[in-house]
Amino acid sequence: MSESSRYQPKATEADWQRAWSEAGLHATPELKPGDQAFYALSMFPYPSGNLHMGHVRNYVITDVVARVQRLRGRKVLHPMGWDAFGLPAENAAIERGVDPGAWTDQNIASMRAQLDQLGLSIDWNREVATCHADYYRWTQWLFLQFLEAGLAYQKDATVNWDPIDQTVLANEQVDGEGRSWRSGALVEKRKLRQWFLKITDYAQQLLDDLDTLEGWPERVRTMQANWIGRSTGAELQFTVVDGDGNDTAERITVFTTRPDTIFGASYVVLAPEHPLVGALTTTDHQIAVEAFCDLVSRQSEQERTAEDKPKRGVPIGARVRNPANGELIPIWIADYVLADYGTGAVMGVPAHDQRDFLFARQYELPVQQVIIPEGSDEHAFEGGAWTEAGVLIHSGRFDGLPSGEAKQAITAAAEAEDWGREKVQFRLRDWLISRQRYWGCPIPVIHCDSCGVVPVPADQLPVELPRDVAFSGKGASPLAQLESWVNVSCPCCGKPARRETDTMDTFMCSSWYYLRYSDAGNMDLPFSKEAVNNWLPVDQYVGGIEHAILHLLYSRFFTKALRDRGLLSFDEPFTRLLTQGMVQGITYKNPHTGKYIAPADVADPTDPRDPVSGEVLETFYEKMSKSKYNGVDPARVIERYGADTARMFILFKAPPEKDLEWDEADVEGQYRFLQRIWRLVGAAAERGLSLAEQAGCADAVASALAAGGADLTESERELRRAVHTAISEISEDLDGDYQFNTAVSELMKLSNAMALHLEASRQLLACEALRNLLILLAPFAPHLAEDLWLKLGGRSADDALASSSIHAQVWPVADAAALVRDTVPLVIQIKGKVRGSLEVPADADKATLETLALESEIAAKWLEGKAPSRVIVVPGKLVNLVP
Ligand SMILES: [Zn+2]
Repeated sequence: MSESSRYQPKATEADWQRAWSEAGLHATPELKPGDQAFYALSMFPYPSGNLHMGHVRNYVITDVVARVQRLRGRKVLHPMGWDAFGLPAENAAIERGVDPGAWTDQNIASMRAQLDQLGLSIDWNREVATCHADYYRWTQWLFLQFLEAGLAYQKDATVNWDPIDQTVLANEQVDGEGRSWRSGALVEKRKLRQWFLKITDYAQQLLDDLDTLEGWPERVRTMQANWIGRSTGAELQFTVVDGDGNDTAERITVFTTRPDTIFGASYVVLAPEHPLVGALTTTDHQIAVEAFCDLVSRQSEQERTAEDKPKRGVPIGARVRNPANGELIPIWIADYVLADYGTGAVMGVPAHDQRDFLFARQYELPVQQVIIPEGSDEHAFEGGAWTEAGVLIHSGRFDGLPSGEAKQAITAAAEAEDWGREKVQFRLRDWLISRQRYWGCPIPVIHCDSCGVVPVPADQLPVELPRDVAFSGKGASPLAQLESWVNVSCPCCGKPARRETDTMDTFMCSSWYYLRYSDAGNMDLPFSKEAVNNWLPVDQYVGGIEHAILHLLYSRFFTKALRDRGLLSFDEPFTRLLTQGMVQGITYKNPHTGKYIAPADVADPTDPRDPVSGEVLETFYEKMSKSKYNGVDPARVIERYGADTARMFILFKAPPEKDLEWDEADVEGQYRFLQRIWRLVGAAAERGLSLAEQAGCADAVASALAAGGADLTESERELRRAVHTAISEISEDLDGDYQFNTAVSELMKLSNAMALHLEASRQLLACEALRNLLILLAPFAPHLAEDLWLKLGGRSADDALASSSIHAQVWPVADAAALVRDTVPLVIQIKGKVRGSLEVPADADKATLETLALESEIAAKWLEGKAPSRVIVVPGKLVNLVP
């Protein structure tokens, strides 16, 4: 076989990438009235410097969507950018003394080069990097919008404190044992005044609008709903009594979803941080209470509320009056009650809440049952609380009411008697955006002793990150240590003032980047209202399930808040969401040592053994990661097979939402498939077939068919049926619920049919098949399709690529007439057992089918000349002959 007759992606892919880029093929078109816009978006990556297979899968999926929409005549926006602030750059600065900005820019350049090799149709003119001043200037501007709207505020919150390095640590810098990543010190909790965004103002809208997101996976909508966590219940007030049991003026408000159980409350629990703890603790309990508060202050919220951890608490000595029955019950503090959730106080009902039950058992608090299962009067809990609804007992005037009615009746009584009211409660809490780190977007405010918090005037934005900073990893954040940057004069009164030294959570930067792409060059605003309303909401968003909650929720919040500021006119940012599955690599693990073994060190994959000890290894598929040596480098795959093969494999191996197991043999399989197409088209070109002479050949065939399509040969008929079946099936697979894997299967079927029938078909029909094959292939294997398009005369080398490229063609429409089959298979059963099948005319009626079945060789063989006693005909499917 000569060199020129082999598929050589390496020789051509880079050339096409360059040619497309020079021709501006992926530039975002200007939208004119009447244009149909389509916005295809991948979640932008953190520029670590290394592209991994998870990225590749994400971006290839989005790219196919973008390419198909272009072929369908939509004006497509398909941008890419960088989520470029964050801890790794700062850690690199501390560990290796590199400049975080230069380090990040280098990584961006190297990842962009890796992305280019994939043949993605990205418009790089709209690239954004959140760490560049021309982007974060607008992040700051948007923060000031939130501040002006009353949606940004400061309050005390807990941070991780490294007592050796005297520095605040991010959660990621604290290891599993609660120690600092750098000093190894046991991390403490400290209170700092920090910035929050009032996402809770939008809790109800964020919940309600989930119903409108029909293009999102159900799973993600459920996760968001649970995160927002709306519950309806009551706020009930317990009056604090003095040492003699007389009411004081002080009341403790608790939130409960079970007001029907109030008669069973045997204690009240406050969060250790509750403002009343200090005032209410009696002298004899002071030491124990202080010790307990100190202990809890060192625990994280997760540790305090984890289901499997025992709950701890102490009484504070004071008592309250249960408003329902007048009983005096003790006040406790416990670790599992959080100060900033609900009212920071709960009533303990051990008989009907499992956590309270365990707590009461541990501290020997009374358990009073007040609900029994309907239709039963027995004691319904053995070792556990009865947490279901039921009927009330020991509840005075409410006895006998079912739980549902009792909730309403007791809440109504509480309201009438002024000891409570109905209340809707959300689990969602305000968003803490302050970070005591350097490599982030500076919060653009100035603190003045006379004027308080003063926003940096808009014309002084951006507040640039200073670059001449020392990174020691010790002491206050590098920004706070830079006196020349911190000390400024107040924009209001001119007196000496101090800059805010906190930077923003990087989720702030990623909550609006998709808006910026619509108008990335705008120097006067983050985006114009016109551009953002023209392009958004995003038609198809693609990214990992790990962002199901925070990123998507924050982005939805931003969109709603900015809508209310009049900056845009839609309610939700992402119409459709696809969460792609993971890419898993083959993984070897020694079950005894727990060590992972690199596949390269496994001599015989059919009998994998530890190269040192010879022990048999466990083999399984797991998410690719460095620590498990199971990663596959995209660059190596592209080098060996080309980008088109990598794309085809990723799309074919699994449906997009499912996990994908990397399998080299299947990669080879896709490579061979592309090679077959290359040969098929090459052979046709050698026979002299040219699309140039058959411009509009689909129309020509259509008119030929109209003039007497009946004289198509059997081969031609089969060929046309295969072509139009592929068009119809692939079009369906690429609509809405994407089934790229079955679309690739359809391409394989089409190429098989073409291998059988192409040569035996007349030129007109062969050209129709070739032209459609290449267009259908183009979104999946863009380089090969473009290459063969040129080879087959779909364009001449002199034509302007922008208009003559295969990627500038029109997606085909299936000809329904070609799909009609003349014959269909009919299954023949004898006494219910399948014995064979016949090809029968597709329009045959019941009587004809019966006759054909009885006359068949199958009937002759199995009935041995006897007439059947019964014949069952299911038209279009089968005939059952019962002897
Ligand atoms: Zn001032």
